Amino acid sequence: MKRPFELTVKEALELMEKGELTAKELVTSCLNRVRDMEPEINAFITICEDSALRKASQIDEARKKGEILGRLAGIPYTVKDVYNTEGIQTTAGSKILEGYISPYNATIIEKLDGQDAILIGKTNCDAFGFGSSTENSAYGVTRNPHDTERVPGGSSGGSGAAVSYGGGLFSIGEDTGGSIRCPASFCGIVGLKPTYGRVSRFGAIAYASSYDSVGPMTKDVYDNALILSVIAGKDSKDATSSPLPVPDYTLEMENTLKGKRIGIVKEYMNQGVDTQVKQAIDQAIEKFKGLGCEIAEVSLPYTEYAIAAYYLIGISEASSNLARMDGIRFGPISEGSDWQERYMNTRGENFGAEEKRRIILGTYALSEGYADKYYHKAQQVRALLKADMVKAFENVDILLTPTMPILPFKFGENSSDPLKMWLLDAFTVTINPVGVPALSVPCGKSESGLPIGMQLIGNHFSEELLYQFARNFEKA
Ligand code: GLN
Repeated sequence: MKRPFELTVKEALELMEKGELTAKELVTSCLNRVRDMEPEINAFITICEDSALRKASQIDEARKKGEILGRLAGIPYTVKDVYNTEGIQTTAGSKILEGYISPYNATIIEKLDGQDAILIGKTNCDAFGFGSSTENSAYGVTRNPHDTERVPGGSSGGSGAAVSYGGGLFSIGEDTGGSIRCPASFCGIVGLKPTYGRVSRFGAIAYASSYDSVGPMTKDVYDNALILSVIAGKDSKDATSSPLPVPDYTLEMENTLKGKRIGIVKEYMNQGVDTQVKQAIDQAIEKFKGLGCEIAEVSLPYTEYAIAAYYLIGISEASSNLARMDGIRFGPISEGSDWQERYMNTRGENFGAEEKRRIILGTYALSEGYADKYYHKAQQVRALLKADMVKAFENVDILLTPTMPILPFKFGENSSDPLKMWLLDAFTVTINPVGVPALSVPCGKSESGLPIGMQLIGNHFSEELLYQFARNFEKA
């Protein structure tokens, strides 16, 4: 029999409904698990033990009285520490926000709270989402529960590790160029980057505002669809959120895949894909054939420019978004003889190396005389990437790629070479400039037992279809 922290959201809800498990027992089981695992893994920046236990007792009381409860009543969860939480510290993984306490909740927190889910902690991440390994956090690295000598992926690595070891039953990550999908792949869980605008960004600390997407990280496909059904939708506080109606994403996922078409991107499979990753993807393709899918080769000719365009636009937006981190409005402030010196010292002392690298490069790319050459050029490439991808969906229902070209790597293996680290994002970063949804699903293991993930990419607002592919695959 599974211990409570090992349950999926669906299983836990069923047990609580039948009166075989209380919210208090479930939350306590997760918190104990966190206590056991954290000395080694370090997935959390903040643990909310008291408030979580209090809320669990309230929910158990309400259930006893027969009150109507929310859809996620009693389910313990975590959020990446880039979401504002009223009264609880929000650091974005950076020293420059240490001790910052937001006066309001992000919309996703309000929505989950409204369905009686229980926040048990805030997870570690690369500072401001800058990274693919969670090595760029000011709060120490997070270790991969599958092999603690290796990274959990990033930037939502704390969320990936926590879900994988049972520190909460699901997490909310943030994905600007792969930060949900990469740790989902490296930690052996399911992670969705939804269509841009599907989930409100209100209260999320911005990395690149035109890319940032809020999405669920879960143990299986059903849970992922369930959480998206709760957090998606129009929000008057985020003008980029979509007014399209939100379906119940759990309803159509068992429908047959017979006759559906999957595109394999020619340009992706050639370059630098680890042989074990390639093998797992080939096996997944065979499995989809067995489920009645047709496979077609697809070409995305501008792929080779995707990383450059993604990073140029991303760091440009980041340099602008991070201008507000000046010590005056948020977080700690350094000494200095006048305001300008205090401002410079605050930024100099509290931003890490990767944050500085991106602010300096982004400011350069936006500066007069260079903006046309870099920033605007990258925007033109972005338009081509988008046209490429939308065209691909005229012939196929989804695209299938590896999520990451390589297996989870060892600490320090790529961190001394920032460019090498950026190049690892080849398959995930093309998605955000285009704004389509992409789901990372476990599709196998390496010889040494490391998780491998595949990425399913759909057209705008095709999340339901992605879940259908993923659920059928998971079942098979
Ligand atoms: N690794 C990518 C980057 O550093 C993606 C990060 C993200 O999605 N937040 O930009």
